Amino acid sequence: MTMITNHMPTSELQALDCAHHMHPFSNQHELSERGARIITRAKGVTLTDSDGNEILDAMAGLWCVNIGYGRDELADVAARQMRELPYYNTFFMTTHVPAIALSAKLAELAPGDLNHVFFAGSGSEANDTNIRMVRHYWSAKGKPNKSVIISRKNAYHGSTLGGASLGGMVPMHQQGGLPIPDVYHIGQPNWWTEGGDMSPNEFGLSRAQGLEHAILELGEDRVAAFIAEPIQGAGGVILPPESYFPEIQRICDKYDILLIADEVICGFGRTGNWFGSQTVGWTPHIMTIAKGLSSGYAPIGGSIVCDEVANVVGSTEFNHGYTYSGHPVASAVALENLRIMEEENVIGHVQDVAGPHLKQKWEALSDHPLVGEAKIVGMMGSIALTPDKSTRAPFAATAGTVGLICREFCFANNLVMRHVGDRMIIAPPLVIQPDEIDVLVNRARRALDQTLLEIKATGIFC
Ligand SMILES: *Cc1c(COP(=O)(O)O)cnc(C)c1O
Repeated sequence: MTMITNHMPTSELQALDCAHHMHPFSNQHELSERGARIITRAKGVTLTDSDGNEILDAMAGLWCVNIGYGRDELADVAARQMRELPYYNTFFMTTHVPAIALSAKLAELAPGDLNHVFFAGSGSEANDTNIRMVRHYWSAKGKPNKSVIISRKNAYHGSTLGGASLGGMVPMHQQGGLPIPDVYHIGQPNWWTEGGDMSPNEFGLSRAQGLEHAILELGEDRVAAFIAEPIQGAGGVILPPESYFPEIQRICDKYDILLIADEVICGFGRTGNWFGSQTVGWTPHIMTIAKGLSSGYAPIGGSIVCDEVANVVGSTEFNHGYTYSGHPVASAVALENLRIMEEENVIGHVQDVAGPHLKQKWEALSDHPLVGEAKIVGMMGSIALTPDKSTRAPFAATAGTVGLICREFCFANNLVMRHVGDRMIIAPPLVIQPDEIDVLVNRARRALDQTLLEIKATGIFC
């Protein structure tokens, strides 16, 4: 077989890709007809594809490249660590310096008494760990019946059996016999689509009270934990109404259950604080981390666990772990990423420079005839597309049709912006500069204009 390189013609690479590479969350036949876009290199916030297009990545890959592409420091650290100790495990009473240093650093960064880290290779694996850990915790305390985990519809917690079960994505549950037993889903705080005639705060309160109803219905003696993303990411960047999390906290304080904040997207500066639970004012017992932990430069995830849970779980043998738990290269890369975040004050940049600039430009998109609401916190934002802002009406087409048209126009304008149904979402690298934000929003506006023209021509907009 000849060597496959960046320099081969795009069509040849696409043919090999469709012949041999099964893609996540894709219809392979559809993909084969169109050919996948081939990304060859990236720097800062800009991707280059195999045809030489320069594309602004307003999704930071999959919400993860927080410090931007092309940081040599991370490559150097990885090479150094591979030479010194490429692999060793953390089972059987052994450890190594990268895992020690990273867990100590995370304990320092995490709020309160979240002082202990169980490492995984990804966010999904970390949520699988959480399922087993919270159930084992209650069992070790003599309450094995406390096994139900309450989650939310349209939540995303990963793609493993456990992660997808915690998640509330119906199309995922429909494949492979999910969810696993003892996972219960309550309604999401998505006022735009589900709020009806209520004000956002009335709706937020009622959705939070759904947690209390679920606990009472199931019985407190059956409920192990509640899991939530501080801000739903893959569900469409849904910012909960302000009334939501204070009420969630009140309910959580009242009943004896554990709280898991899935910080896989919201962690590490995305919302303008180290963790999203700080932004929404919520105090978890366990935080799920991945993505921004290493800015995506190496696969790593984990669970940051409070003193009480760690002590109880630590008093027994926890029969759980991954070959790559605390992988030395991934840990060293994550540590270097966190060093850069701190030394370059990346969170200060989000709070004082990029965040306010993006907020102003993004919210101004709500004057566009297609845009119903434009929401943003820190570096994650969304816009709801609608033919009628006052009634929040859907389009006269299957949900997601217009969102997909808009996403294709974004691509054509060299902008990566995703759609979730008819909601457009962004989560750019945290280091994005004001002039790049202007380019991002100008391209988004052009794509919206083109989408409007097209759906008027095809009769979807009326
Ligand atoms: C991406 C994501 C996960 C899953 O992480 P993987 O690394 O893809 O397994 C879990 N939770 C949330 C909130 C995510 O966004």
